[in-house]
Amino acid sequence: MNLIIIGAGIMGTTLATLAKEMDPDLEITILERLDGPGAGNSSAFWNAGTGHEANCELNYTPVDEEVISVEKALKIHAQFNVAKQFWAHLIETGAIKDPKTFINQTKHCTIVSESAIEELRIRFREMSAHHFFEHMRYSEDFDEIKSWIPYVMEERPRSQKMAATVVETGTDVNFGALTEQMAAHAVNDLGVRIEYGTHVKRVHKSPTGRWIVEAVSKGTPVQHKADVLFVGAGGGAFPLLKKSHLPFRNRFAGFPVGGRFLQTPISEEQAGQYRAKTYGKAKVGAPPMSVPHLDLRVVNGKHYLLFGPFASFKPRLERDRGFFDYVSSIRLHDIPSLLNVAMEHFPLVKYLVSETFKGEKSMLDELDDFAPGLSKKFDWKPVQAGQRVQIIKDGDLQMGTEILVSRDKTYGTLLGASPGASVSPEVMLRCLEHLLPSVFSSEAARKKKKEIFPEDDLNTLTNQPERYREIRDAVNNQLGINQPGA
Ligand SMILES: Cc1cc2nc3c(=O)[nH]c(=O)nc-3n(C[C@H](O)[C@H](O)[C@H](O)COP(=O)(O)OP(=O)(O)OC[C@H]3O[C@@H](n4cnc5c(N)ncnc54)[C@H](O)[C@@H]3O)c2cc1C
Repeated sequence: MNLIIIGAGIMGTTLATLAKEMDPDLEITILERLDGPGAGNSSAFWNAGTGHEANCELNYTPVDEEVISVEKALKIHAQFNVAKQFWAHLIETGAIKDPKTFINQTKHCTIVSESAIEELRIRFREMSAHHFFEHMRYSEDFDEIKSWIPYVMEERPRSQKMAATVVETGTDVNFGALTEQMAAHAVNDLGVRIEYGTHVKRVHKSPTGRWIVEAVSKGTPVQHKADVLFVGAGGGAFPLLKKSHLPFRNRFAGFPVGGRFLQTPISEEQAGQYRAKTYGKAKVGAPPMSVPHLDLRVVNGKHYLLFGPFASFKPRLERDRGFFDYVSSIRLHDIPSLLNVAMEHFPLVKYLVSETFKGEKSMLDELDDFAPGLSKKFDWKPVQAGQRVQIIKDGDLQMGTEILVSRDKTYGTLLGASPGASVSPEVMLRCLEHLLPSVFSSEAARKKKKEIFPEDDLNTLTNQPERYREIRDAVNNQLGINQPGA
């Protein structure tokens, strides 16, 4: 049996690695339009590199009056734990030598001012009562908060009342470096083939039931045949789905949201003073992916600060693709859905358009609101981030991701953008379970799965504190993440 994967981002590469480990006889080819792995949204600076485990993102704990919902946060935390199990397995087997090449311990903090202090207090109370967040700390003490996140507090007037939480075991992840190392392991050790410079234009089913994959490789038309196909092509998954003739294709359309960051290189010594990712509260009307945050990033052993994201309305499927690619992916039947979203979410569209035209000065002013005086301390430059294509499903805009698998289990695809790379091993495990259940059926396969994922059941992790702690401590140890004082 052969599996063709379209896209060598973190999703496609994780799926290939996992599938081949589970079933070494599976023939796997990845087709990638760029010249290397992890060069799209997964590359280091096209995303913010937060290892999302719901420690610090207020949008994962929505509040309604006095009631805060932590369900989403619990799920994301459990998914991230499963992700860390997979990455720890890659370290344990020697597939990746040094965890520091892709994952670095970084405090995860949330900071809010006066009007949101009560919300943060309730959030802390609810979350820290659960074993997932038992080490979270809360403070309203100016000096204590300053000791956690000096760059956000140093020049802030003491009269400003602030509150913050900290989780010491958060992470910064270079998803690009992780993807590159996984791809090298998949090719050199597991026998996966990757064909770079191969842009898939259309996929359709032949009368024999196999998928015909039509692509252009370095200017020449090529064709591949697949028993099973997985499209992990980021925003590029939408046009391929549209041309697939699968019955559910008409239910989906894409809503593109671009982004920019402010970025500055900093020295190792400066990074030592601010080993944190600090998330604030999104402005009213801003989409959840626009929560402002100031992040320490570690990329190829060098240190950077990143602030943003500044969302933008860019009608593109991927950052380096043209307007025409997006427009030609729209079908007549998508137009009512797009109009519906534009009308129902008019404040969002207005917000995105206004953000698109924001100049460097306004970006720096926003940075100073978040971290007073920081704009002058470093030499900041605006940089373009990746492109998200959010899902419009049955006319409704959705902010998450969705795995679709055809009824005959020969076509799978991932649509949407968030929380994405952080939870990719868990999401790809579920995808593989749906798409190729046969790879899990033998006793040897079940044993192999336990070896890779000692505990992948999200309910067990959520409801059995001792089991969770056992797994957490083992994987953190493997990945070089330590709870101070533990
Ligand atoms: C601004 C921003 C900030 C983010 N911050 C975070 C964060 O802090 N933490 C986090 O976990 N996630 C974050 N994300 C999300 C994260 O980047 C994505 O979830 C993740 O990179 C998606 O991986 P992927 O493999 O699906 O897509 P990609 O990495 O984009 O890979 C898709 C690949 O498919 C290829 N492709 C596309 N079309 C075709 C075709 N037709 N033929 C052949 N190849 C094709 C592309 O070239 C690309 O290499 C952020 C995203 C953005 C945009």
